[in-house]
Amino acid sequence: MSYEFDFSDRVGRVEPSATLAISNLAGKLEADGVDVVDLSVGEPDFPTPENVVQAGQDAMAAGHTGYTSSNGITELREAIAEKLRGDGIDAEAGEIIVTPGGKQALYETIQTVVDDGDEVVLLDPAWVSYEAMVKLAGGDLSRVDLSPHEFQLEPALDELADAVSDDTELLVVNSPSNPTGAVYSDAALEGVRDLAVDHDFAVISDEIYEQITYGVEHTSLATLEGMEDRTITINGFSKAYSMTGWRLGYLHAPEELVSEAGKLHSHSVSCAVNFVQHAGVEAITNTETAVDQMVQAFEERRDMLVEMFDERGVDVSVPDGAFYMMIPVADDDQQWCEDAIQEAHVATVPGSAFGAPGYARISYAASKERLQEAVERLDDGGIL
Ligand code: PMP
Repeated sequence: MSYEFDFSDRVGRVEPSATLAISNLAGKLEADGVDVVDLSVGEPDFPTPENVVQAGQDAMAAGHTGYTSSNGITELREAIAEKLRGDGIDAEAGEIIVTPGGKQALYETIQTVVDDGDEVVLLDPAWVSYEAMVKLAGGDLSRVDLSPHEFQLEPALDELADAVSDDTELLVVNSPSNPTGAVYSDAALEGVRDLAVDHDFAVISDEIYEQITYGVEHTSLATLEGMEDRTITINGFSKAYSMTGWRLGYLHAPEELVSEAGKLHSHSVSCAVNFVQHAGVEAITNTETAVDQMVQAFEERRDMLVEMFDERGVDVSVPDGAFYMMIPVADDDQQWCEDAIQEAHVATVPGSAFGAPGYARISYAASKERLQEAVERLDDGGIL
């Protein structure tokens, strides 16, 4: 007789990440020798800047290989605080926890703020892990659909006002957005502020794509009057500095929250990797040119894709940030994505994974040639 685990209710509430499921399928086809254009991935296709790699190697060689203080090395927390002050947030090193990836910062925040039955509001389409993290914390989800508004928040403020109440504990805002690439206007953020103050709830501002915008200014929510003491700002190094595998991110919040979340942090991950934190100091202080070049490449690809879709009569909402775009597909977006990968060998992610059925998310973290190839394959296969 084999042992049967009695799994927790908690873990039974969530599904594995849909993005990873598609990547796995793409990986299987590739292993069979099929040339797949993989537009399902959420990571920049650029190498980590050389000076950052060097800083990591130097730190390792210099013996920075032990535990650090749980919330992160002072040098990095100071550098992050300075960066945030440059964005207009009145930040200090003591208000920061350095985490292994922005994901862990979000996880710790949600675990710290959300109790069983607490109401958490998401703006759909939303990045897949918010829902899972809220469910793991026992929270109840309430969702506002931005799809009818070209994925913008400003025209949906009335709907957001209907969705929130004095019972709302937390709202999650992600601008620039994964999966839509939308950057919310200042008027939209002011609308969020008015509702948060009115109903007295906290807001997570996930700003992980903040450096990747095209001709629009990103505003940090915590800079708005009334938001400083109720905003948890999440950011990380994965997307801005092409450092996904290094696993480095952070949260900034009032010290009271940092002290509570710090308990979870110290009892789970202990700290982010020591030499990675040292590389993070280099990334945050000395990568302006590399970031500019990457953003410019993304913008050119976005423009090319928008034009290619337009020529084929596919009407996309033009994203102002991140490296994703949502394309309208068949009602059954799951089936569409399956056809796209099986028949055209182009991997995308079904919109329903993000709460937006009828769309597919494509990531343009791929070369222009591969993107062109993908659109042509979809078109030639009659899938578009
Ligand atoms: N937030 C959003 C919206 C993301 O898309 C991602 C990565 N896919 C993360 C947070 C987490 O990134 P990381 O843990 O690599 O910092």
